[in-house]
Amino acid sequence: MFYSIKIRASKDGNHVSGSERIVKKEYLKKVLNELVDKTYIKDPELINIKIEEIKVKPLIVKKTLEIKEHQFKNVEESKRFAVDIIHTATRIKKDKIYELINTVHLGSSPDGSNMRGAMIVNELGERIELDKFRGVRTTTVDFIDRDRILKRLKDIGLTNRTADALCISTKNMLYKDMTAEYCISDEADYTVGYVSVKGEYHRLNPAKEYGNPKGGRIYFVRNNIDIYDFYKFLQETPVLIEDVVVD
Ligand code: AMP
Repeated sequence: MFYSIKIRASKDGNHVSGSERIVKKEYLKKVLNELVDKTYIKDPELINIKIEEIKVKPLIVKKTLEIKEHQFKNVEESKRFAVDIIHTATRIKKDKIYELINTVHLGSSPDGSNMRGAMIVNELGERIELDKFRGVRTTTVDFIDRDRILKRLKDIGLTNRTADALCISTKNMLYKDMTAEYCISDEADYTVGYVSVKGEYHRLNPAKEYGNPKGGRIYFVRNNIDIYDFYKFLQETPVLIEDVVVD
């Protein structure tokens, strides 16, 4: 039996920390303690914890997308690389892809702030997420044995953050009508981003300018996507991943 744990913390009304895990019942207490410890570092005023039994049988996935590392001279070079990959996967005009990527660097919500979730863009380059302020959030995905995976990632210089992003993107790319993803963090001092296509997760270093507090994700999809089914998959289908693939 699996449980989903979702923990969110805030201070002065602002979100300061959030994590999600899928765990077997026997690990529930252990993982909950770890997550609460992680949250305490942020000195929260409010901690919101939701623990829920997962009723649907999780989709077991053997491997993550393959991690490929790329170092660039500057952000422009990294954007060019991302645009080329996205263009090949989606056939959207390159100028349009630049425009969409730049939107993320400037704040992709209509009011110029960061969205909590991702933008969704079709093959015409149109934004089709149902709520343009919030976007869509991918949830209910984890590694079966997270500690082992974290150790493997640590050995090659990667962290918890990459584990989380790799989970999200691996789940996203399972959806048949999703063709590519672009992501930069909304933390001003974290400049590594990624672009994913089917089977591959390209880490872009640097993907954004140091000090920029704007970040976000773009999910590229086919025109004929069933948007409601896509939301349902991202938000509700539990996915458990067995192993990571490193280039
Ligand atoms: P992060 O990778 O956590 O720094 O998040 C970067 C941006 O990606 C956020 O500002 C959101 O716009 C978006 N985002 C974060 N988490 C998710 C998620 N679970 N699903 C979809 N988009 C997300």
